[in-house]
Amino acid sequence: MSDRLADFRSDTVTRPTPAMRQAIADAVVGDDVFKEDPTVRALEERLADMLGKEAALYVPSGTMSNQLAVRVHCGPGDEFLCETGCHIYAYEQAGYAQLSGVAARTVDGQFGILRPEQLAGLIRSGDDHVPFTKLVCLENTHNRGGGRIQPLPIVTSICDWAHRHGLATHLDGARLFNAVVASGVAAREWSGHFDTVSVCFSKGLGAPIGSALAGPRDMIVRARRARKLFGGGMRQAGMIAAAALYALEHHIDRLAQDHAQAKHLGAAVGKIAGLKLPNPQIDTNIVIFDVDPNLGTAAEFTARLRQLGVLMLAIGRQQIRAVTHLDVDAADTNRAVEALGAVVDECRAGKPGVGEERSAYA
Ligand SMILES: *Cc1c(COP(=O)(O)O)cnc(C)c1O
Repeated sequence: MSDRLADFRSDTVTRPTPAMRQAIADAVVGDDVFKEDPTVRALEERLADMLGKEAALYVPSGTMSNQLAVRVHCGPGDEFLCETGCHIYAYEQAGYAQLSGVAARTVDGQFGILRPEQLAGLIRSGDDHVPFTKLVCLENTHNRGGGRIQPLPIVTSICDWAHRHGLATHLDGARLFNAVVASGVAAREWSGHFDTVSVCFSKGLGAPIGSALAGPRDMIVRARRARKLFGGGMRQAGMIAAAALYALEHHIDRLAQDHAQAKHLGAAVGKIAGLKLPNPQIDTNIVIFDVDPNLGTAAEFTARLRQLGVLMLAIGRQQIRAVTHLDVDAADTNRAVEALGAVVDECRAGKPGVGEERSAYA
């Protein structure tokens, strides 16, 4: 067995490939705050074109991209509607409130998926007592939902409803390209339903840094100004944008391999007594499963996994997430399956634990 850890904690842990590093080394750069970085401009134009939008803005993180979108669509005292487990609401420190004076109104979905009728009646009246409802945010694929793809008819229905009622729509597409590859529905078709779309290059696409927000030109101009306010104006950012550009060219189609590995892993987990998939349907690259409390907590379980060279993330007291990506292959997936079985066996045999591994609770 190699000393290398098989790291399934997140698709953010990938390291740039040699070819990506070469693209970084070769990048032509300039000062992007002066709008003089040709590589950043090329990336922004390429992404805008792929998503069928007028313009795009390269930003340091998906969190900044989402928060810029909320700020462009909403002002202080406004409110947006979203699914309860979504990243914008659950994992961004309520940045919309801290940074922009905006409130969120959440609706519980099933594995991240809302039914359109759940939104009916949630647009507030405009009376002096209540906030103004301005925006609907959806996430595709849905991270906490276990990488679920939003069904296209649901996206269509919710966005049509929002626009009919004068609300804006934003897509957190941190993993949009996973949805594209797994569904066969083109990026433009997904993004066409939304005013603004955020995508991450640092997730499954395997770039080291960066996300982008795409949308109508006037909104991207306003997002650019807010990006400077948030401290996200970067100088020779072509150094990192080159990796993102490389990823758009070379790392989209290969996401199918990640999805196949995740399906394999999910099927194997489903057969291990003591582990249970709340949703056995693995759409893309995320596998979420529950650990029977008799085996200890999820964080204790992942600490034991680390002893066997396999890393996964505790995302609840009894819940673990495993994500496939560019830096785990079929051999790593097989090793993970073996390690899961071995850890269950050692728990049942009463072998003493090794503490708790880092967790990321919702
Ligand atoms: C990771 C992620 C983000 C935020 O990305 P960061 O670059 O980590 O800020 C946003 N939305 C979703 C769905 C994500 O998974």
